[in-house]
Amino acid sequence: MLYLLELGIQLGSGSNQKTERSKSIVSSILVYYIFLAGMFIIGIYFLYDALQAYNTGDVEGAGFSAILGIIGIGMSIYMLTMLRKRVSTKKIPKKVVTTIECTKCSLKKIRTFTKGDYVLKDTENCTKCDQPMLITAIYTEKTDKS
Ligand SMILES: [Zn+2]
Repeated sequence: MLYLLELGIQLGSGSNQKTERSKSIVSSILVYYIFLAGMFIIGIYFLYDALQAYNTGDVEGAGFSAILGIIGIGMSIYMLTMLRKRVSTKKIPKKVVTTIECTKCSLKKIRTFTKGDYVLKDTENCTKCDQPMLITAIYTEKTDKS
C-alpha cells in the first residue's frame, strides 16, 4: 500500500513537471495513475495468490485468482495505453511563430518561435540591410491537426 502511494507520487511529480500550466489536468491524471497502479498491484497480488493456491493443490482457486490477476493487469495496461494516446494527442503543440521586423527597411520575416523570444527583443540582423531586427509579435498558428 505504501509502495502504491509512493508510485503515485512519483508519477504525479513526473507529469507535474511536463504540464505545469494545467494543474487540474495533472491532478486528474494523477488520480488515474493511482487507480491504474492500484489495479496493477491487485492484479499482481491475485497472480501471486494463484501461485500460492496452486502450490497448496487448490487448482480451482488458483485458476480463479489467475483470471482475476490477468484481468487486473490487462485492464491497467490497456487503460495506460489509452491514457498515453490521450496525452500524446493533447501534447501536439500549436505552432508558435515569431514575427520579426527590420527597424530600418521594415522587412518582415516570420519564423518559428525559439526559446527566449519576446516582443521587442533585438534578434538576428536583417538579410537586406544588415540592421538588427526586432521581434514585433509572437503568436500561435492553428495547425491542421488540432
Ligand atoms: Zn532591413
